[in-house]
Amino acid sequence: MKISRDNWITFIYPEVYGQTMKGDSRFTLGLINGKVYRNGEFTQEDVYIKDQIIAEIVPTGTELPCEKIVSCTNKLILPGFIDPHVHINLELGEFKSSDDYESASKAAAFGGITTFIDFLEPISNVNEFDVMLKKKQNEAKVSYIDYSFHTTVGNFNDDVDKLIKISCESGIPSVKLFTTYSESNRKISYAKFQEFLKNSNKTNTLILVHAENDEKILNANVEDTVESYESSRPAVSEIEEIERIARFVDEFKGKLYIVHVTCGSSIELLKDKYNELLGKNIFIESCPQYFYFTKDKYKQKNGNLFLIAPSLRSAEEQEKLKQNISFIDTIGTDHCPFTKEEKRRYEEASKTPKGLGGVEFSFSLMYHLFGEKIIDKFTINPAKIHDLFPRKGIIQIGSDADFVIFDPAKTQVIEPGHSQSDYNPYESWLTNGLIESTILRGEFIVKNRKLVGTKKGKFIRRE
Ligand SMILES: [Zn+2]
Repeated sequence: MKISRDNWITFIYPEVYGQTMKGDSRFTLGLINGKVYRNGEFTQEDVYIKDQIIAEIVPTGTELPCEKIVSCTNKLILPGFIDPHVHINLELGEFKSSDDYESASKAAAFGGITTFIDFLEPISNVNEFDVMLKKKQNEAKVSYIDYSFHTTVGNFNDDVDKLIKISCESGIPSVKLFTTYSESNRKISYAKFQEFLKNSNKTNTLILVHAENDEKILNANVEDTVESYESSRPAVSEIEEIERIARFVDEFKGKLYIVHVTCGSSIELLKDKYNELLGKNIFIESCPQYFYFTKDKYKQKNGNLFLIAPSLRSAEEQEKLKQNISFIDTIGTDHCPFTKEEKRRYEEASKTPKGLGGVEFSFSLMYHLFGEKIIDKFTINPAKIHDLFPRKGIIQIGSDADFVIFDPAKTQVIEPGHSQSDYNPYESWLTNGLIESTILRGEFIVKNRKLVGTKKGKFIRRE
């Protein structure tokens, strides 16, 4: 059964969107002769840009005065992609993830991503918010692409309403919670979890959740090795926890976004029991790595390199995940690479930093598996869910001029890439279609597979 998308929670459409611009009609950039992705289909139109935004869309062949014209014959013109889940400069004890804003945003631009959303470090009280925000804003000054952040709480025991108020006032209407990681003091209590949902119901703030059952993980009682890693955080810990929090949403409503869902069974459970909440109160994100690798990796020689949290799953769960692709709202990458040496430093899975890179290849990998139906999961869906719409995620007059020029007739050999990590789990694979160029607010960052842009990314207030 397909979920109706009519019930998106109220989105604000400022007056300017959807209207033709008046006044001086000289455009700065025209993308002509391409197939433009609009409302779920391709139209033969020309797109003209002025002052960083989409200023005019006309039938192909309508010549308008323009400083620079780029012909896109046989190419697809897609909205710039949005990755709602990346970790940059993430500190985990003695480790720090490999990418800073410069390398992560460069890699992302090659992958067609024009906006990504990173996470502020976890806070336990409201007073810490400003410090965390300033820290990230400082780091992000070298970004090639636009960015935003999610507020993150760890064992939060302060005033929920107050936190959400200052977060929203700062242009960040989203807060991430963990139901696990009590050992690193990040787990939220269920009482606080419910407070966040109640607030979300009032304020429309998005609550992101990392859903794994902490007790199940603490009581797993398996060897602390790479081979046993999946059993230490088993599929059932995700499925059960998702069931529990869906019950909370059923009671308190609000908007809950479940990050990195790994099990097809989790989605089937939501479909069976909470169908009416999907796409309205509950949103589902998954990541490319769960579609391409299974827990068998942990039995192989380089198993350490694939340690991520949540864990990779069985082939059966992966198959179910693929079958339920239409119920997955967004694809995030959970981009968080480390170096080989860091991944191999300890024998114990628990001491190894979890995470993989992926920001550069997520679209190519998912397009290869699912074709055009994947486009919305990288564009309009994350834009709507994460309050970037209609500024981002759509090709329409008044929106930011962010585009990907994609050649569906070509193939792409996955290169080592631009991440600072020294391994890429997808290297030398072949995918259908080629991301040729990426445009941010009317300027090429990547043109014909070459970096031509500069670090002009900016913080996007989401409201
Ligand atoms: Zn993450």
